[in-house]
Amino acid sequence: MGLIAEELDEVKKLCEHVIPGTKLVSCVPTMVRVEIRRTTFKHFVVCIQFPADYPKSCIIVELKSKVLSAKLLDGLTSICEGEAKKILGKPQILPILKFLRNFIDENPLSCCYDEISSIRKNLLTEADELKLKQKISTVSLKVCEDSYFFKAKLLVPDEYPLQAVSLDGTETNLPPAFTRFIVAQCKEISRQCIEPPIFKKGKKPPPQQQQPFQPKPSLEPVVSFLVGQLRLFPKERCQFCKNQCLPSDPSKVEVNESADQHVERIYCGHLFHLCCLITYMKTPPFKGGKKCPACQQQIFTERWRVGESLAEKRWAHHEARQRELEEVADFLQ
Ligand SMILES: [Zn+2]
Ligand SMILES: [Zn+2]
Repeated sequence: MGLIAEELDEVKKLCEHVIPGTKLVSCVPTMVRVEIRRTTFKHFVVCIQFPADYPKSCIIVELKSKVLSAKLLDGLTSICEGEAKKILGKPQILPILKFLRNFIDENPLSCCYDEISSIRKNLLTEADELKLKQKISTVSLKVCEDSYFFKAKLLVPDEYPLQAVSLDGTETNLPPAFTRFIVAQCKEISRQCIEPPIFKKGKKPPPQQQQPFQPKPSLEPVVSFLVGQLRLFPKERCQFCKNQCLPSDPSKVEVNESADQHVERIYCGHLFHLCCLITYMKTPPFKGGKKCPACQQQIFTERWRVGESLAEKRWAHHEARQRELEEVADFLQ
């Protein structure tokens, strides 16, 4: 029996037993095809061919997958070649299959390779940091803007993207209210990636949502939101006094949530100093409710929910008092 026939016999006997998650699809001298599956999204097919002078030169490996990144597979193919070169003259198929199976176990972030490349290319600058911790399947991120930063660890679960990323270990010098908002929104964004929207009983979903729900990858949407918020906040101005809301020096951030200079984020996302928001809410016109000066959306804040007529009365009272004071001032001159 020739060397190749012997090796094919060995592969038939051992492959599925010694390498977990493999399925031998074909095993003939022209082509060996093996499926390697860890999860639905960590799944690929290895096609192997023998060169004319095998095993003096390396086996020819081709990797195919509907779920893993083409670029990642290209890189992995050349690594395979390097691995095969180490064992020239010996049977190469089982060692290479073992190597590939280990790779997918030891690099759980493989399933978000394209997302990570896109984050690096489109969202981050040189001041930011992104580190991959394959051992704990975590993307560790630090985004910087002016003197502000936001650090977070994004855990990518094994069943990603069917399960969403989760945010952990956040560290920032933004005010606590901002951090609460960012963390809550990240949670909501990742939830929406994997759970269908809920419709009230009897209400039909809009036509575009009648298709069965498909879970989406959540890493890039979450990072994109997080980066967007950090780029925005340090420069944003108060919609009333037009001064920059956050101090240039983060150590001077107001953390007392009832202090005048505490920064409030209203429903539409625009910012006010607390004292500016209070003044604005108490100033006419009140008709149709107070609207954000920047985007004209209604201002909803639990803190200042005052009926229109009450606001009118208060303003009238304030004006009357003001006139009284002016009259007194005139009298004293
Ligand atoms: Zn202000
Ligand atoms: Zn607004």
